[in-house]
This record gives sequence, structure tokens and C-alpha cells, in this order.
Amino acid sequence: MQGSRKKWYVLLLLTLSIFLISCKSDSKPTQKETYLMGTVIQFKVYGKNAEKATDEAIKRVSEIEKKMSVNIETSEVSKLNAKAGVSGEKLNADTYSVIEKSIFYSKLSGGALDATIEPIVKLWGIGTDKERVPLKTEINEKLKDVNYKDIILDKKNSTVKLRRTNQAIDLGAIAKGYTADEVKKVLLNNKISSAIINLGGNVYALGNKTDGTSWNIGIQNPLSTRGEYLGTINVTDKSIVTSGNYERFFIKDGIRYHHIFDPKNGYPANKGLISTTIVSDKSIDGDALSTSTYILGLDKGLKLVESIKGVEAIFITNDKKIYVTPGLKGSFDLTNKEFTYEKGR
Ligand code: ADP
Ligand code: MG
Repeated sequence: MQGSRKKWYVLLLLTLSIFLISCKSDSKPTQKETYLMGTVIQFKVYGKNAEKATDEAIKRVSEIEKKMSVNIETSEVSKLNAKAGVSGEKLNADTYSVIEKSIFYSKLSGGALDATIEPIVKLWGIGTDKERVPLKTEINEKLKDVNYKDIILDKKNSTVKLRRTNQAIDLGAIAKGYTADEVKKVLLNNKISSAIINLGGNVYALGNKTDGTSWNIGIQNPLSTRGEYLGTINVTDKSIVTSGNYERFFIKDGIRYHHIFDPKNGYPANKGLISTTIVSDKSIDGDALSTSTYILGLDKGLKLVESIKGVEAIFITNDKKIYVTPGLKGSFDLTNKEFTYEKGR
């Protein structure tokens, strides 16, 4: 009797310690940071497959970058641009679907988002050693080639062609969103149910924290250096994407020139907003819409967001006013009193 009771205790202790060990590995995340897609990408992944899942996710990011970057000569986008006006390029499903989605949002935003903006992006060279304020005549010359309607899709053959020789596309406004959605798929395939992915400000909050409560995601203060928040939002399984004039810019004669261009005039968009944050289920939608609404400005931007089900927004104006769509009212917490919260919109 004594012996079997002892055995019982040993078994119980063993089970308990195995349970404790598995709890511990559940509560300590795998954290990795690397530089891809021209930005810092960070992973915080919980669960027992976290290490493997994170490595696979990083591989997937790198794979997408190799297909879509304009800075990689062998990318599908570079090849497509090189053949502009001549012939089409056969694309992998990733690149094809991102171009298709970009055109969808070009139509929805009345041409604010336009992947054929590449000649303008290159002309300004923001973030490169060639950055400068171009002449208006140069800008107007390049603008002639900016028109998303010149992206010719052939779905059957998965081919895309640009109508005219000098045209080129840049998927910088939307590719990170697509990538975040793909990373999420990799994590789910590895049975991860709790993680934070941050692709240079393009955040996806997977599931909840390990204690079952929702994630608290900081919203960047667009007037301060990176890392300072003006408030937080509470989310579960959401993408949070911000576009702003504080990320990539240069200052000349007291004027800030940033990297989000208005296709109507070829200059950095200047419609009174300093940042736009989109909260949505899919990050590709958030990325497309944060750039689009930044270019459209407060009124048109809010109208656009309000017309799409399941998409919420936080817009910050030059005069430090914050506009939040009704669906976020309960989850957004403004902590920086320099900004004023505009209620009742
Ligand atoms: P970030 O790259 O900082 O996350 P965005 O998602 O807003 O910010 O994308 C900005 C990038 O998109 C620019 O660096 C440029 O490559 C590209 N871009 C700039 N203006 C436009 C535009 N009007 N339409 C489509 N893409 C744009
Ligand atoms: Mg974007």
C-alpha cells in the first residue's frame, strides 16, 4: 500500500512539473528582429512551435520581398517594369494578387492610391542619397506616366503589362500589408494562437495575450521620435497599419517633404493629416487604406473608411486633433493630452 501511494505521488509530481514546464514555454515568447523590405521587422510569438513558426515566417517575408521589391533587379516587379510598353510579364500568384488589389483600391480611392507612381517616387528619391526637390516641369513630365488604368491585367495567363515605355509600378504602399497576412497564415499553420508581428509599423495582433485578455497596441505619436505613443487600442485578431509623414522624409528650407505622393500633382500629399491608422481584419486592406486616406485628407478619408464594413480608423490632423470612427470608441485610449479627441463624428 505504502509503495503504491509513493508511486502515485511521484507520478503526480511528474505530471505537475511537465504541466509547469509547458506553461512556462507558453508564456515566454520567441522574439526576433531583422531588416527586410526596407524596414525593421519584429516578431513576438508565443506557443511551443514559436521558434520554428518565426523562422518560417521570416523566410516567407524574404520570399515576398524578392518578388515585389523595386530595389531588387531580379524581382518580378523589376522585370515587369523593364518590359513596360513592350510585353507583359508572367507573375506568380503573390505578385499578381497584390497588383490586382492595388487597382481595386485605386478605383475605390478615386486614384489616390496608384502603383504607377514609381517615376515620381524615383524623381524625389526620398530616403536615398539622391533626395531633392525636383522642378515643377520635371514633376509634370513624370506625372504623364502615372495612371493605374495603364496596368493591363491578363488573369487567365497571370500576366501583367504596362501600357507605355516609361511607366513603372511600385508596390510599397501595399506589399507589407499583404506580407503581414501571409505571415499570419504561416503562424496559424504552426498552431500559433498568440503573436505580435510588426513590419515597420504595419502591425498584426494575432489572437489574444496568453492570459486571454486582448492586446494593447500603441499608436505612434506622429510628432515625436519613433517609439513614443499617444494612445493605445485594445484588439484581438486585427491588423493596425499607420501611414504618416514622420517615417521617411527630408527637410529643405523649413519644409518637410515625405514619401507619400499625391498622384494628382506629384508632390507629397498635404491634406492636413499627419497620420492615418487603419484597423481591419486583413492587413492588405489596412495598408492600402492608410496610404489612400492619408492622401485623400480627413473628410474624404473618413467617408471612404465609413463606406467599408469592418474597417475602422484613427486620423490625426496637423492641428493635433484626433478623429476616431465609431467602432473604435470603446477600445481607443488617448493618453497624450497634447492631442484633443474629436468626439461626435
Ligand atoms: P510605409 O511604406 O512607410 O509603411 P505607406 O504604406 O503609406 O508607408 O507607403 C508609402 C510608399 O508607397 C512609398 O514609399 C512609395 O513607395 C509608395 N507610394 C507613395 N505614394 C503612393 C501613391 N499615391 N500610391 C501608391 N503608392 C505610393
Ligand atoms: Mg500603405
